[in-house]
Amino acid sequence: MKARKPFVGGNWKMNTTLASAAELVRGISDALSRVGAVDIAVFPPFPYLVAIGGILRDRHGRVRLGAQNVYHEPEGAFTGEVSMHMLQDCGVQMVLVGHSERRHVMGETDKLINQKVKAVLASGMECVLCVGETLEQREAGHANQVNERQVRAALSQVPEDHVPRLTIAYEPVWAIGTGHTATPEDAQDAHAKIRGVIEDLYGPRSAQPLRIIYGGSVKAANARSLFDQPDIDGGLIGGASLKIAEFVSIVRSAADAATQGE
Ligand code: PEP
Repeated sequence: MKARKPFVGGNWKMNTTLASAAELVRGISDALSRVGAVDIAVFPPFPYLVAIGGILRDRHGRVRLGAQNVYHEPEGAFTGEVSMHMLQDCGVQMVLVGHSERRHVMGETDKLINQKVKAVLASGMECVLCVGETLEQREAGHANQVNERQVRAALSQVPEDHVPRLTIAYEPVWAIGTGHTATPEDAQDAHAKIRGVIEDLYGPRSAQPLRIIYGGSVKAANARSLFDQPDIDGGLIGGASLKIAEFVSIVRSAADAATQGE
């Protein structure tokens, strides 16, 4: 039995149509209605949140609804942005912050990510904070330093009583969407180091229950070996979350890893 209940999220990124998103979520939630040992969420594109939320509610909310991004200000002249309240109105329960595509394609800074993390947690929603090093940083031997810097910056001024609503996703940039996955041992090492940073910031009572999930080309074929590691508490899945059978198999691997030895 693993120490923490695993979490598996499907980040659909800027993919699907309204019709294919509905088909995908129906397939996932029907196949997973009886898999109990894992928390599951999907992160559809903004325009489909209400529709997907409705389908999930009709299926008793076994799969939770997440958003891929948010803006930290409550309202106002921020053209193109979406607020916390808007997401909550749409039934969103959790938000991804600091995904590598937001950091590296959209240019989000540690400061902006910190503002978003604070605002999401203060709103009562859950936050999945993504961190991870680039290939260049890894090859230079700086992976752990980069992860530590990103975690400390993102959590600056986050009060300890908000940490139970936090999940950290370790997603090495070089592994996202590339087909290259970190080895289970390398990922475990990074996760243990990140847990150490949380322990340093908040103490073991906050660090031990915190879920640290892995993302970066997870698929049905490699999920179990990652989830068997003691500090890997599930996964954030991109490409493979768009295929019902792959995503269902990944969630089942997390359930099997969690209940191993029972
Ligand atoms: C992601 O988008 O968070 C991700 C891990 O993508 P992929 O699984 O496609 O590498």
